[in-house]
Amino acid sequence: MRTTCAYCGVGCGVVATRAGERTAMIAGDPGHPANFGKLCSKGTHLGETIGLEGRLLHPMIGSRRAAWDEALDVVASRFAATIAEHGPDSVAFYASGQMLTEDYYVANKLMKGFIGTANIDTNSRLCMASAVAAHVRAFGEDIVPCSYDDLDAADLIVLVGSNTAWCHPVIWQRIEAARAARGTKLVVIDPRRTETAERADLHLAIAPDSDVALFAGLLAHMRATWRLDGRALAERVAVPDGFWKSLPTDSVARICDVTPADLHAFYDLFAEHPRTITLFSQGVNQSTSGTDKANAIINLHLATGRIGKPGAGPFSITGQPNAMGGREVGGLASTLAAHMGFSDAERDRAQRFWRSPTICSGPGLKAVDMFDAMAKGKIKAVWIMATNPAVSMPDARMARVALANCPFVVVSDCIAETDTARYAQVKLPALGWGEKDGTVTNSERRVSRQRAFLDAPGEARADWSAVAEVARRMGFAGFDFANAASVFREFAAQTGFENHGTRVLDISDHATITDAAYAEMAPFQWGGASPFVGRAFSTPDGKARLVPVVHVPRDDAMRGYPLRLNTGRYRDQWHTMTRTGLSPKLSQHRREPLVEVHPDTARRLGLADGGLARVETPHGASTFRVAATADQRRQELFVPIHWSDQTSAGGRAGLLPGQDRDPHSGQPGFKNTPA
Ligand code: SF4
Repeated sequence: MRTTCAYCGVGCGVVATRAGERTAMIAGDPGHPANFGKLCSKGTHLGETIGLEGRLLHPMIGSRRAAWDEALDVVASRFAATIAEHGPDSVAFYASGQMLTEDYYVANKLMKGFIGTANIDTNSRLCMASAVAAHVRAFGEDIVPCSYDDLDAADLIVLVGSNTAWCHPVIWQRIEAARAARGTKLVVIDPRRTETAERADLHLAIAPDSDVALFAGLLAHMRATWRLDGRALAERVAVPDGFWKSLPTDSVARICDVTPADLHAFYDLFAEHPRTITLFSQGVNQSTSGTDKANAIINLHLATGRIGKPGAGPFSITGQPNAMGGREVGGLASTLAAHMGFSDAERDRAQRFWRSPTICSGPGLKAVDMFDAMAKGKIKAVWIMATNPAVSMPDARMARVALANCPFVVVSDCIAETDTARYAQVKLPALGWGEKDGTVTNSERRVSRQRAFLDAPGEARADWSAVAEVARRMGFAGFDFANAASVFREFAAQTGFENHGTRVLDISDHATITDAAYAEMAPFQWGGASPFVGRAFSTPDGKARLVPVVHVPRDDAMRGYPLRLNTGRYRDQWHTMTRTGLSPKLSQHRREPLVEVHPDTARRLGLADGGLARVETPHGASTFRVAATADQRRQELFVPIHWSDQTSAGGRAGLLPGQDRDPHSGQPGFKNTPA
């Protein structure tokens, strides 16, 4: 069976061959344009994660097993009663980039179109919301303007805040192949010397959160040396008054804490290689200045004409398998649906399409605000689907306070015992990878099918169908979906509804796809390989925008917290390990969570390599084993995000970051916490 990997935003095609009741042979799909048959270690070992150990197989109300009908009745009646007493904004839905587009579509439709609140947000808020906000500011629409093919055509690839070799390994293999074939230059910008950075032609270990200065300085340098694209600026880009600023390279080097020689080496490489891809990930997004960082990168590409050409563009790469699909349907509290915003015209258009009794009045609560509202008693019922916020939210202790304080918590998951599920009054068993059927969209806007090749275990059912059943029980029409294909058809139709070419996202040619054609649907890329070639940007005047951005030093240095804490992934684990933790082979790479610290810093603090250290921030503390490594800057620590109450007594990274967030995207800053 041809399907798509369960993990990262590369979106690799997988061929899964069932070998027994709950076993399968896994191989890369040679015909899939995202990976051409390649897989990384996580994808390769998917077959070790499809057993039934730890699965939630039946609905649960409290600690007792319940029938689906009873559980759905309870969810519908508690949501309806809460709305009747406290209004639509007293309920919320917390979704996930692990959900299929069809699940996301039905949840968004219920919340925004029928309950009438935009309080639906997703763990993608923690992942790439800053890139979304930057795209909207620059292009008028959340569009990634590049494709993987551009990596093959680039002469220079700049990786910013991305340990691509570990976190997007098949993209990394593609970059390595391009370097071997064409001599593509590679610059890595990352405070840590990661495996990716070790392989670079140039590694700039910049100070955390100095990216805006780095890229604004590069833009100033390109302008000072007459290397801007005057024609692109005149015809395609709107430049606000007072935008241009000089920024001496000496100042930039000081802010970024790199040598002027290294800075000039980067600026020279950029100047000499017009075919540049700047690929950025969580080091950019997970920041209190994440949106400005992304816009600093996009500004540079717009002003130098390095966009909409083969091998050139700013390329945000998503973390999760379907963060992009969630963005398409409106799974973020800051988007309505099908890339629409919340203007009167757009809300009216969505309501008429859905034929719904109401429509949300404006944006809803973003993830951190949503949990804050739960803690304060303003959100009184929440449905959490396919995510584990008790581990993954910043300041996870506060997330637990919020869940404990929320009178009604529903959790849909395929795992029975998670840190979040402990707070649920109702647990609904979900289908897992290999059992569920639908679509995902990868980082290059390519829609692929996830297909079921295993039987549904126990009473698990598709998430979209659980949401539709609750909607029907709440008395809403418009949720009689026969199957995933019928949900997809409706979503496809919505992207074209009164679109008139104003938004790039338009897959309405799939609105009449038959069930049989949906079953066989080949991967396709909406917007084409380069969406802004030959068409206007999605702004009222058709021009992209340069967005003024200024480096703002963080002012939260605190007495007693002399270091900065960075968090991230290990190569062979995924999120909170509920799936990858099942694979013995994947667990061999890193068996426990380590705090990485520079040897000089370790000596100063009296820490022994291999000993234990208690890491404390203003928000919490946890104990990790020490790994002394010169790959860390002296002032900083690094810990992995994966371990939870279920897997470890210590090593709890989620307890450490605070809730400070980007003012534009609401994305929390995970990578620069006083420690
Ligand atoms: Fe799966 Fe990502 Fe690895 Fe591809 S690169 S196999 S999508 S985890």
